[in-house]
Amino acid sequence: DQLGLTSFASRPAITSDGHRYEIAANIGTPEEARGLVEQGAEAIGLYRTEFLFMSRSQMPDEHSQYEAYRAAVEAMAGRPVVIRTLDIGGDKELPYLDLPKEMNPFLGYRAIRLCLDERQLLLTQLRAILRASAHGPVKIMFPMISGLQEWQAARALVAEARHQLEQEGVQVSDRVEIGIMVEIPSAALMADRFAREVDFFSIGTNDLVQYTLAVDRMNEKVADLYDYFHPAVLQLIRRVIEASEAHGKWTGMCGSMAGDPLAAPLLVGLGLHEWSMSASAMNRVKRVITQVSRDACRALADQVLDLGTASEVRAALQDFADRIG
Ligand code: PEP
Ligand code: MG
Repeated sequence: DQLGLTSFASRPAITSDGHRYEIAANIGTPEEARGLVEQGAEAIGLYRTEFLFMSRSQMPDEHSQYEAYRAAVEAMAGRPVVIRTLDIGGDKELPYLDLPKEMNPFLGYRAIRLCLDERQLLLTQLRAILRASAHGPVKIMFPMISGLQEWQAARALVAEARHQLEQEGVQVSDRVEIGIMVEIPSAALMADRFAREVDFFSIGTNDLVQYTLAVDRMNEKVADLYDYFHPAVLQLIRRVIEASEAHGKWTGMCGSMAGDPLAAPLLVGLGLHEWSMSASAMNRVKRVITQVSRDACRALADQVLDLGTASEVRAALQDFADRIG
């Protein structure tokens, strides 16, 4: 029913009992932001900025970064854009940064760890993002946060970038939310402590699954073990959402679980606020949300969080999906 599905592009995700959820898109380049609003995106929930850095032979300067971020913000015409700071290292290399070969790159020198070392690099990026905030609602998100000290150091750099720009007389919005990705179990376990300080969380299930289950997300040999429906992952997700609720903050999800229609009723039941996914997945997730009630989803979440294996979880979710048609 292709026709019925595309009609969701112009409709919000509201449950049958009237609860509304934000549906957002993930992008890797500002070109991908064009046409997103028409496709039904209410925000950009994850702008992966590393492609801007990987697609050239030298570091993009502040101005070219600003132009890219501004293009995404302008394409969204007043809707929020969550810009993630550079998440490099691991599997993603930069030719002009001479990174050492590592035994365990996914446990090594990457993302915020590298950026807090390369202070000028992060400061330049933050200045470019803050400058883009003059053109529409921008939120800053830090990847691979494992502990409070990283978050606090990153937040201090935002303050420094803002101070510099204000001294220079450059216009910056005074309402730029700053949040973290929850993609390392230590951050999920400490969500309650983080929630006092951050403006928002976005759960990155791609890495959260990898680190919680000790399963390499790229390794075919262990792909069977890689599953976001593993009960341990679900418990972490619940913990993060509950912590954000307790402190009046919001939680999004930008890993691939967010684009899975089977997961949507469970995530409604757990209280997720925002879903960010590839643009092609938005209509299906919206359709599912309009077909369910929050109460039924809460009952489903209670039932599912009590199960012991990923396959039992999947079966329960499939059963629920079959019943809504
Ligand atoms: C994630 O880890 O879930 C995520 C969204 O980030 P990336 O896939 O870019 O690592
Ligand atoms: Mg990640």
